[in-house]
Amino acid sequence: MTPADPRVPELSVVAPLHDEGRGVADFVRAVFTELEATAESFELILVDDGSDDDTWDQIRAEAAQRPQLIGLRLSRNFGKEAALCAGIERAAGRAVITLDGDLQHPPELIGEMVARWRSGEARIVEAVKADRGAEPLTHRINSRAFYQLFRSLTGVDLRGASDYKLLDRSAVDEWLRLPERALFYRGTVWWIGFSRTQVEFSVPERATGRSSWSLLRLVRLALVAVTSFSSAPLQLATFVGLSFFLLAVGLGLHTLYMKLSGAALSGFTTVILLQLIIGSLVLLCVGVVGQYVARIYDEVKGRPRYVLSESVGSDTRERDAK
Ligand code: UDP
Ligand code: MG
Repeated sequence: MTPADPRVPELSVVAPLHDEGRGVADFVRAVFTELEATAESFELILVDDGSDDDTWDQIRAEAAQRPQLIGLRLSRNFGKEAALCAGIERAAGRAVITLDGDLQHPPELIGEMVARWRSGEARIVEAVKADRGAEPLTHRINSRAFYQLFRSLTGVDLRGASDYKLLDRSAVDEWLRLPERALFYRGTVWWIGFSRTQVEFSVPERATGRSSWSLLRLVRLALVAVTSFSSAPLQLATFVGLSFFLLAVGLGLHTLYMKLSGAALSGFTTVILLQLIIGSLVLLCVGVVGQYVARIYDEVKGRPRYVLSESVGSDTRERDAK
């Protein structure tokens, strides 16, 4: 399809949804109100990321009334990044906007983002968090620590960054060329480059439901990754290495104390200390290598990022057939 094709909407809006059943109607209404006021033509793509509640039924009900709405249903919970990817791959618009489906990314911003894009100011318009809203303190500390670490390791500053973005078609096409399975949306959108500009917003409280990124969920996710696939032994080395390192520090201090108080056999201290330190460091390093091997293993399997089970909406059949 060329840009002149009348079937190409000006805007595609993509939102991932996981257990947001109660909020779907409000979300769709808010986005439609905004889009009807701003866009020449548009489509809204809702991706149900394997919800356990009635999210999919809600999406179908909305799609029955609104021809511009497309619903995609993943066959299970693949995670937000995969859901976003499913939506972006389906999007046909001359610009694609991604936002959360829990109204924490205010749709009222769409007008301004589109105006910036239309003016040709930039090909990517990013909504950045001016403040993080009423977020639990632990969340705030965790995310700050994560971004700090990410920045010191990669030199990329993602503080305040959100997944609320507008990408011009040219940027979307480049993004779609990225082959990796494990996608980190914010990071990869940064990586593709292009001119960019920012609009600020403050995060409102969730309208319904709750954030699914509790600490428990993160820990569970980590555990699933370790246990359900056979790269488990690789991961294990990291944890064993870490605990041995802690043990080494404790025992090391004890041995030093024995030495200084004259209760140790001569020469013995050095042997123990060296054993402990070298042992734990070697395990730690093996663990780090293991993490990377595990990542390579995941990529090399080349599994699709998601599996679709159903779709509803205007052009579903025509594109499913391709
Ligand atoms: N989400 C998803 N799959 C998941 C977890 C979340 O599609 O496995 C969606 C969720 O429905 C929401 C968005 O991703 O629209 C952001 O999730 P959430 O509000 O839980 O994250 P937070 O706002 O705490 O960053
Ligand atoms: Mg949220």
